[in-house]
Amino acid sequence: MILVVVEHEAGAPDRLSVEALALGRSLAEATGEPLAAVAYGPGSAAIAGALGASGVATLTAIDDPRLAEYAPEALGKAVAQLVERDRPSVVIGTGSERGAEILAHVAARTGLPLAANVTEVRPGDPWGVTRQRWGGSLLEEARLDGPIRLLTVAPHAVKPASAAAPSQVAVEAFAPDLTDRDLRVRITSRVPAEAGVVSLADARVVVGGGRGVGSTEGFAELDELALLLGGTVGVSRVVTSAGWRPHAQQVGQTGTRIAPDLYIACGISGAIQHMVGARSAKAILAINTDRDAPMVTRATYAVIGDLHTILPAIITAVRAAR
Ligand code: FAD
Repeated sequence: MILVVVEHEAGAPDRLSVEALALGRSLAEATGEPLAAVAYGPGSAAIAGALGASGVATLTAIDDPRLAEYAPEALGKAVAQLVERDRPSVVIGTGSERGAEILAHVAARTGLPLAANVTEVRPGDPWGVTRQRWGGSLLEEARLDGPIRLLTVAPHAVKPASAAAPSQVAVEAFAPDLTDRDLRVRITSRVPAEAGVVSLADARVVVGGGRGVGSTEGFAELDELALLLGGTVGVSRVVTSAGWRPHAQQVGQTGTRIAPDLYIACGISGAIQHMVGARSAKAILAINTDRDAPMVTRATYAVIGDLHTILPAIITAVRAAR
């Protein structure tokens, strides 16, 4: 059995889970083993219909009201119990922070080998994997030995793809054996995001701002352009360290990895730790005073000049075009 740990929203697996399922299905086809999924949180059983598109045969819905909110230790324990019961040949987690956290707990509990940020798997004896290291700037060929292999899929490294024919998904509820101690780490409250804001990871257009923006107030033009283009604002670490914008908006190795159609990078030099998060952008428009900045040399298009002059001109042109 190939087991994929799925995260979901609005009744369907989220984007990174669809990528993990695509890798799982290619392994299922290569090994002849069935593809199974395990999901957690409210509404888990209801995603069965959507999982049929990925060729999933069975869905195990972790059924425990104490897991209505994300609780990594408890979920790691629940998945570890399922792994002990079903003995899959591989357990695949998503490339999200949650996916990595749950699989790390499973590995620690079971003593099984875990390869993180995998882009390719070659079943054999032992299994071969290609995985991203150093934030994706290096690819490592590794061997994954053991009766059950654990891996997480590098974000946006595997193309989401549907099965040739949708499958009928059998659903079972799984009640894990948990104690209150397993729930020490859990979400206790939530702060709602601003209404209408597009999520950074899913945005088709990201308007990025770096040190060159100069201040919190300097972001007004970036916010305006992002709104006009139906996108969202992303920032460099300098910006979050300065307290100009929240960490939730940081793009990069220690922030969010984005994959927009267009990344408009304003006053960002293009340090490797930033580019790790932006490398999946289909096109980059760099706006920078320095024509030799790495962001400019890597960009699809570049405008050399002061962003506070260029952004208002772009905003005016977009409005006029409409
Ligand atoms: P700078 O490098 O200072 O670049 C500013 C740019 O703005 C320059 O190119 C300049 O020419 C241009 N500019 C200045 N004024 C203007 C103007 N008026 N108009 C147009 N252009 C102008 N960084 C991240 O972003 N994300 C991460 O996740 C991240 N993780 C890290 C993890 C580690 C372990 C480490 C060590 C570093 C990490 N960093 C990360 C930091 C990273 O190395 C860089 O320091 C940071 O990305 C630089 O931010 P910046 O481009 O905004 O600033």
